[in-house]
Amino acid sequence: TKSPLRYKRILLKLSGEALMGEGKYGIHPPTLAGIAEEVIEVAQAGVEVALVIGGGNIFRGVAGATEGMDRASADYMGMLATCINSMAMQDALEKKGVHTRVLSAIKMEQIAEPYIRRRAVRHLEKGRVVIFAAGTGNPYFTTDTAASLRAMEINAQVILKATKVDGIYNADPKKDPAARRYKTLTYMDVLKQNLNVMDSTAISLCMDNKLPIIVFDLTVRGNIRRAVLGGGEIGTLVG
Ligand code: UDP
Repeated sequence: TKSPLRYKRILLKLSGEALMGEGKYGIHPPTLAGIAEEVIEVAQAGVEVALVIGGGNIFRGVAGATEGMDRASADYMGMLATCINSMAMQDALEKKGVHTRVLSAIKMEQIAEPYIRRRAVRHLEKGRVVIFAAGTGNPYFTTDTAASLRAMEINAQVILKATKVDGIYNADPKKDPAARRYKTLTYMDVLKQNLNVMDSTAISLCMDNKLPIIVFDLTVRGNIRRAVLGGGEIGTLVG
């Protein structure tokens, strides 16, 4: 008695900060394990899941060291930070018995497969959770853009963009009690109003390829399932 799936293949984008829990940087193992559990829940429902994880939680810890550094070098450090998070997530998922592959945009053969598009798709077809590490492999980009790019490449039907608020509001809901959540928005709305969802490169890429984005609150348990399998409207749909 499986409920029909809304999406067959998704790309979930987590910021590095999502792994910190209440901490100021680094990885909080119970938080990581909780997210892994939610990912497994949708994977076991038959959804093919790809992940992109940011690096802010690690990178912030070294941000002081990068001050005055060459931008490209600092960006490569950021990309390495995403690899640390990707490996941590891989471990958390595999501890719970799920098969995973980390595919890195920067070659590091001892710890991750190199990113090869067709390989990524094959892993997904086999039911493995695929984690895309090292962003796009290029400085001056973000992991949001990496998420959009990879989602396109693997023909994901949606990007789930995890945040700390339940979607996109017309004002900051933490400061303004009258702030209202948008149920849907167009890409152009997001770009024109400069709404803080993903950077403009990532949004434009989605717009040009008509890839919907669901912005949702990851801190509420079960929201990944709700976004993917239905059961309670959550977040904001950009499409
Ligand atoms: N980064 C990059 N190219 C990419 C992806 C990431 O240069 O394709 C670098 C960039 O410096 C970025 C850092 O890696 O600031 C960490 O990624 P991001 O800030 O997107 O992580 P998040 O804020 O989602 O944790």
